[in-house]
Amino acid sequence: MFQQIHSNTLEELHIKIDPKSGLQAIIAIHNTHLGAALGGCRFISYQNPDDGVIDAIKLSKAMTYKAALAGLKQGGGKSVILYPTSKFDRSILFAEFGRFINSLNGKYITAMDSGTFPEDMDSIAEHTSFVSSTTGHDPSPHTATGVFAGIRACIQHQLNHSDLNNCHIAIQGLGHVGYQLASLLFNAGAKLTVADVNSEKTNRCATKFNATITSTQNIHKVQCDVFAPCALGGIINQQTVNELNCSIIAGAANNQLSDESIAQALLEQNILYAPDFIINAGGLIYLALQREGLLAESIQQRILKISDTLANVFNQSQETNQPTQNVAISLAKKIVYPR
Ligand code: NAD
Repeated sequence: MFQQIHSNTLEELHIKIDPKSGLQAIIAIHNTHLGAALGGCRFISYQNPDDGVIDAIKLSKAMTYKAALAGLKQGGGKSVILYPTSKFDRSILFAEFGRFINSLNGKYITAMDSGTFPEDMDSIAEHTSFVSSTTGHDPSPHTATGVFAGIRACIQHQLNHSDLNNCHIAIQGLGHVGYQLASLLFNAGAKLTVADVNSEKTNRCATKFNATITSTQNIHKVQCDVFAPCALGGIINQQTVNELNCSIIAGAANNQLSDESIAQALLEQNILYAPDFIINAGGLIYLALQREGLLAESIQQRILKISDTLANVFNQSQETNQPTQNVAISLAKKIVYPR
């Protein structure tokens, strides 16, 4: 565990165990040089508690880079609540989590993530003001808007045109972001292939967006222009990297690359990779700027700037022959740790 903390240059790690409510929560604060650490709360099952701690640590680092490259005055943090194995009351559990967050005096601000909903944020908000994405403030459509703008930037760079009409996009995961992204792409004329573990979601996309359905095992192998991972992390790994049939990888999922060597493999295969912590920043931008009181139109303009950030990274990658992921991390570090 200390190895993880050390190699990820984590500032703080907080753990709360409350047998009464069933809360077992981890808050990882990676960096607060630019401001309070803003990042979502995952509420999912892990094989063992250590996996949850490591997930929080790794995700918090990506949040630091994400906020920095989005030009936000926020640091990076993430929390994980281990899904209880025995009966629990959801609102009591999230209320307790709210008290835990409040005890950190504003160093960490939470938000929705996998397995959490606006109602959970409402329960938290009864006990702390350091919470975002409460009812009426879902960041997912903004994340989808950013990914959509980012896909356009990818196509421009890699395929030398900006027309999504007849571009073939394979989407993995049709949840809050993936479904909205499918809708935006369909309306722009793209041809879609989709996969999800939930067949209701794939059927809905087939009906509404004329999407072709494929299996969750095969979605990354589909011959297409863009593979858009919108489920969970680690999808591009030592095995799947050799099975790809796309020109571009651009999706919403966090930590898409299982390890650092994958970025080099993608460069060698001439697959353009949109670093996840840039392309999926739309939701974070929305939540951060909304807390600052910016109006919807200004926030939307900032989200669309994701395409400029990506274009800059792609150009630098081309000039230096470095993977896009490495270029993006170097740029983020220069902002977070200026000399
Ligand atoms: P979600 O939980 O609503 O959706 C995930 C979808 O993936 C679900 O429909 C689920 O059934 C599906 N799925 C799970 N395993 C799968 C598999 N093996 N193959 C295919 N589909 C699978 O989550 P979301 O909010 O849409 O977020 C998607 C990803 O984007 C996550 O990695 C999340 O961390 C990241 N992200 C989300 C936001 C946001 O604003 N919601 C912001 C930044 C990053």
